[in-house]
Amino acid sequence: MKKNIILMGPPGAGKGTLAKQLKEELHLVHISTGDMFRDAIKAQTELGKLAQSYINRGDLVPDDVTIGLVKERLSQSDCDAGFLLDGFPRTLVQAEALNKLSKEISREIDVVVNLDCDNDELVRRISGRRVCKNCGAPYHVITMKPKVEGVCDLCGGPLYQRKDDNVEALKVRLEHYVSDTKPLLDYYKDLGLLASFNSLVGKETLFDEVCSFLKK
Ligand code: AMP
Repeated sequence: MKKNIILMGPPGAGKGTLAKQLKEELHLVHISTGDMFRDAIKAQTELGKLAQSYINRGDLVPDDVTIGLVKERLSQSDCDAGFLLDGFPRTLVQAEALNKLSKEISREIDVVVNLDCDNDELVRRISGRRVCKNCGAPYHVITMKPKVEGVCDLCGGPLYQRKDDNVEALKVRLEHYVSDTKPLLDYYKDLGLLASFNSLVGKETLFDEVCSFLKK
């Protein structure tokens, strides 16, 4: 089984939703740099204060900060079980740092699962996305409604719209994806690690396809 996994794809492709499903099924540690930054913002730590303005604009948090964060997390013992990196790496500098780190700590990447999605669908997904403030579970105002409006089915927490899920920030995020992150697909293809999936098939089918691929 492949257990040290990177999930890649543009914002809205479904990385977070897939990561939560895979985490349950395969008992892997879910490492989302976006979630880590949002937690730090909520707690108003030094990291949170620094990350806040970048995130709200849709810009990337500087590489040295992000790499330091992942280095610390990935070195923890629970990652022995395997991990899902969601939202990292996003730049070539980050990918090269991860390559070096994963060798140093003997946790080399087994596969990069890339989610393909078309632009109109990304905009539709992101603009209707709502997230639970407590547990981070994702919803959509049309396609993934909670049972009670504004309330998380899983924990009863309030749903909110992320500050960077607006048209202006999304435009910047998609530009960063194209210029900084998309080139990593070639980087991982050259390393023989890339596996691409069409995320338009729907979340359950996508989960089944990725899961059976990872279990091989
Ligand atoms: P996400 O939840 O993955 O969409 O990330 C939300 C935001 O957090 C991004 O738009 C960036 O501002 C920041 N972020 C998350 N991961 C990274 C990363 N690997 N490098 C730089 N910034 C990041």
